[in-house]
Amino acid sequence: MGIQRSKRYWIGFDLGGTKMMAALFDDKLHKRSVVRKKTRAQEGSAAGIRRMGDMIETVLEEGGVSRRMLGGIGVGCPGPLDLKQGVLLEAANLGWRKVPLRQALERRFHRPVTVMNDVDAGVYGEYRCGAARKSRCVVGVFPGTGIGGGCVYEGRIITGARSTCFEIGHCPVVPEGALCGCGRRGCLETVASRLAIAAAAVEAAYRGHAPHLMALCGTDLAAVRSSALAESIRRGDKAIESIVRRAAQWLGVGISTAVNLMAPDTVLLGGGLVEAMPALYREEVEQSTRQHLMDALVKSFKVVVARLGDDAGVTGAASWAMEQSSRSGEHR
Ligand SMILES: [Zn+2]
Repeated sequence: MGIQRSKRYWIGFDLGGTKMMAALFDDKLHKRSVVRKKTRAQEGSAAGIRRMGDMIETVLEEGGVSRRMLGGIGVGCPGPLDLKQGVLLEAANLGWRKVPLRQALERRFHRPVTVMNDVDAGVYGEYRCGAARKSRCVVGVFPGTGIGGGCVYEGRIITGARSTCFEIGHCPVVPEGALCGCGRRGCLETVASRLAIAAAAVEAAYRGHAPHLMALCGTDLAAVRSSALAESIRRGDKAIESIVRRAAQWLGVGISTAVNLMAPDTVLLGGGLVEAMPALYREEVEQSTRQHLMDALVKSFKVVVARLGDDAGVTGAASWAMEQSSRSGEHR
């Protein structure tokens, strides 16, 4: 090869329960091409991995990049994971168990593959290119069906030795509270997740306190999406507004614990609920978090809303793969 180090490219992959996305980035993290597909998890993990590989081939082709120019692949996926081995241990929403993602993709592409938690990928993406750029410590919290959390500290994603960490959704906040999906009581998710909000919203609709929500989606829990909640508030459902505000305040209670432990300079909020109601969330979470902190920490951080949307996961996965490669000094 010539003296000049040739330019390299990176794949970021976001494996979700219903959809997956692959994107190709250059060294400057500019996106060159992108492919989206339905996950079709019910077809099994072997077919899933093949489809993932095919998508990677497609983005390389569409980006005009040969395999030889590929530096590495980063995959963000739902947990729990064995980070060291790159194995997806169990994904409830995919129905997959013990899937050796890293091994399978390395065999096909002969390039280093980094498997990471999807929330970590999103937080890292916002840290590299989005709302949390240049922060020293970012605590990211993504309320959705559950509540995901992740932390980037001085450029590194904080993890356990083998698995991910920052499970803020399962921090207990209500003694003897409602039953959580994890089997314990009173976790943050039981009062601040979209599921908790939807349950309270459906009850309000049933009682006749939320006519706009009733008109939008009736009392079907699964139909109460973030966009429906936002729309019913916009149309004037005060009961729904107070339910969402209370949930956002609870989120602040959970986040105050993280601020006490990590003293971040940036608290990053993202996910469907926050995207649908960014101002409400930023305001309530900021106020509630500060209210639950000791004086020394009250003004130590800012609250920002994620701005990369769907791109956060693929950007984070690709840039973390790039970062891992430069740390390990691999220049193949
Ligand atoms: Zn829990």
